[in-house]
Amino acid sequence: MATPIGQEFEGLAALVTGGASGIGAAIAERLAAGGARVAVLDLAPEASPHFGVECNVADDASVRTAVETVAKQFGRLDIVVNNAGIGAQGDIAANDDDEWLRVLNINVVGIARVSRAALPYLRESPSAAIVNTCSIAATAGLPQRALYSASKGAVLSLTLAMAADHIREGIRVNCVNPGTVDTPWVGRLLDSAADPSAERAALNARQPHGRMVDPAEVAGAVAYLASPLSGSTSGTSLAVDGGMQGLRLRPV
Ligand code: NAD
Repeated sequence: MATPIGQEFEGLAALVTGGASGIGAAIAERLAAGGARVAVLDLAPEASPHFGVECNVADDASVRTAVETVAKQFGRLDIVVNNAGIGAQGDIAANDDDEWLRVLNINVVGIARVSRAALPYLRESPSAAIVNTCSIAATAGLPQRALYSASKGAVLSLTLAMAADHIREGIRVNCVNPGTVDTPWVGRLLDSAADPSAERAALNARQPHGRMVDPAEVAGAVAYLASPLSGSTSGTSLAVDGGMQGLRLRPV
């Protein structure tokens, strides 16, 4: 029988990394609105109204403790949203090895780490889903975003590989590819410009639909991919970018 809209996550438990801000906060809110019990794993979880667990996705011991805390709190774990990520600017010469490995450790290995810790619980779930926050940067060839693009390209291929490995266990794995989303992260970038409000207007104007993506719109896509509504979908990436990818445009 079809799952009623608005109760997609009734009885299920979810965790969202990087869920205390921006896109992750909107995802946590959306999953909770659909009936899930939601845990937010973040460096600074206290900003979240949900069950907050301090966690650094760059640290394996921290991740294992956090995932075990969530499973103990809820008695189960059905949905993992790997959303924590950081940016990096510049061409390949702009960042040294330490910075390359730091960003890849958070954006890529963090996903493997959290998912690995969650696997035993997901295998027990009747409705297991992993959704990774990727980016249009994975395939757009963005100028001055070499490290960030490489990290998101890896997220895309990791999503495909995980989907292949775990579908027989009943675990679906997909990702969302946001364009430019109006989050505190983008706000910080705009604030560093000489004229932040002019820069914001210009950024909005560069989007195909004339505005940045709302975090709630990314959360809607994640909710679809995390819910039984997409029970036959695994190994896909869903663009939430105002049509940018289809138009072969770039956000910068
Ligand atoms: P944000 O900075 O507003 O929020 C990121 C959250 O992740 C913060 O709460 C932060 O504390 C947490 N975090 C950072 N490093 C962490 C770590 N090591 N361990 C645990 N938590 C950590 O950013 P956002 O704009 O909401 O971005 C979220 C995700 O969306 C990222 O993966 C980013 O690459 C992706 N994304 C963002 C945009 C955009 O335009 N904002 C576009 C495409 C993809």
